[in-house]
Amino acid sequence: MNKHSRRGFLAGSVVAGLAAMTRAVAGPRDITTTAWRNWSGTQMCQPVARFAPGSEFELMEFLKHNKAQIRPVGAGHSFSPLVPTNGRLLVLDKMSGLISHDTISKRATLAAGTRLSESGPLLAKADQAMFNLPDIDRQTLAGAISTSTHGTGKELKSLSGYVTGLRLITPGGELLELDENNDPDIFHAARVSLGCLGVITQITFQNRDPFRVMTRTWIEETEKVLEGFDGSANAYEHFEMMPLLHARYSLVIAHKETEAPLKSGPEADDGGEFLSLMDATPVMLRGQLIDTLASQIEPSEAVSESYDGLANLRFDRFNEMEYSVPLDAGAACLREILAVIEKDKIDAVIPLEYRIVKGDDTWLGMFSGAPRISISVHRLSRYDYRPLFDRVEPIFWKYEGRPHWGKVHQLGYEQLSSLYPRLNDFVRLQAELDPNGVMLNTHLKKIMGKS
Ligand SMILES: Cc1cc2nc3c(=O)[nH]c(=O)nc-3n(C[C@H](O)[C@H](O)[C@H](O)COP(=O)(O)OP(=O)(O)OC[C@H]3O[C@@H](n4cnc5c(N)ncnc54)[C@H](O)[C@@H]3O)c2cc1C
Repeated sequence: MNKHSRRGFLAGSVVAGLAAMTRAVAGPRDITTTAWRNWSGTQMCQPVARFAPGSEFELMEFLKHNKAQIRPVGAGHSFSPLVPTNGRLLVLDKMSGLISHDTISKRATLAAGTRLSESGPLLAKADQAMFNLPDIDRQTLAGAISTSTHGTGKELKSLSGYVTGLRLITPGGELLELDENNDPDIFHAARVSLGCLGVITQITFQNRDPFRVMTRTWIEETEKVLEGFDGSANAYEHFEMMPLLHARYSLVIAHKETEAPLKSGPEADDGGEFLSLMDATPVMLRGQLIDTLASQIEPSEAVSESYDGLANLRFDRFNEMEYSVPLDAGAACLREILAVIEKDKIDAVIPLEYRIVKGDDTWLGMFSGAPRISISVHRLSRYDYRPLFDRVEPIFWKYEGRPHWGKVHQLGYEQLSSLYPRLNDFVRLQAELDPNGVMLNTHLKKIMGKS
């Protein structure tokens, strides 16, 4: 079973437009004024221009002379309005690939515009693999670390937690080489930077030996999975559950490292049929239907290379809200969300996602300081997500939830600074590196307390 066939309930897609929108030009010239949209289609803007540098030198020259608002964009897979600008979009598609690697330390430096999906095979050739991957692998490396993108695993950090070095070009056009010994403050801030400290051009990751995963998926009662969650998270390096709405069951996904031969799983299933069936079924009847279906769904098993087995493809577009809560609050928070959706008969079909992530030492990481549980709520993008998200978000607040920077949330500086203890330091650093505020759009000004 590979990423085409796994986890048949959520669906999604591949970013289409960016490559076409960023046709190669030589030198720092504007490319097109085509409108920009994110993956879910909810965030849009009409940038005055796009700039796709082919080298650090070109980018530095561009930034030295720039006076207008700029926003770096990766694969456009964030749901929150981090990217939209009426100024210029900076696209790093031309800065992609493996730059260097060290066979002893298992560290590798990649260009910032490299997609996660490209990194797996590139690193495999260098006898390395990333420790973990998020749910999909279409994001760019810079985009992914800039929002503290993560997968699941009790002993596994977010991608930013494995960054050991960065090259960042400041808004003024100065190249900084950052690691824990060189400008450590900027380094720890820039590992989760929301794209507002400058433009990241290269990232060095601590990797490991390549590995395979045995992926098991099954359906089990949500309460039973929750009760055994700690044990399961110890038994499987990557363990998560996807509680079905208006039902007693969860889809469970567990990956265990293995040396077994590759083994493909069931026929490809993007989960679209399930979502369509649920969507066509009145809310009141969904639980009954799922209970009936649950007993008929067979567990599945597959063995893949880690970079193939840990990430999925999502075909049906959706919007997502995700918060992380302290470990001991995870189960109560999840139960409360499920109960509210059930009680209010909220019409949503995509299962929740419940994951565990180890802590790190970044300034703005969702898991900065301690391990936490992350919980995601989704709504197909053809529907208004507000009724669902507005109802659920206060539950996250009650459990001291920290929002995922790349996903929908309503918080501003005041609330965020009590959740992210280093936010104040980050704001100060941002102002030092970007005194004219050229990297701040409306959303970022709200986060930085400048609106
Ligand atoms: C279907 C789907 C599944 C997802 N699954 C997960 C998941 O499992 N776990 C998870 O944590 N998240 C997940 N996400 C969220 C996603 O990983 C993040 O929003 C990520 O930041 C998107 O990366 P991107 O390359 O698309 O960057 P964008 O969304 O384009 O940009 C994100 C941020 O990075 C900044 N940025 C981009 N390039 C640079 C650069 N070169 N220098 C400086 N800043 C830069 C941007 O300015 C912006 O602030 C998912 C999203 C989707 C659509």
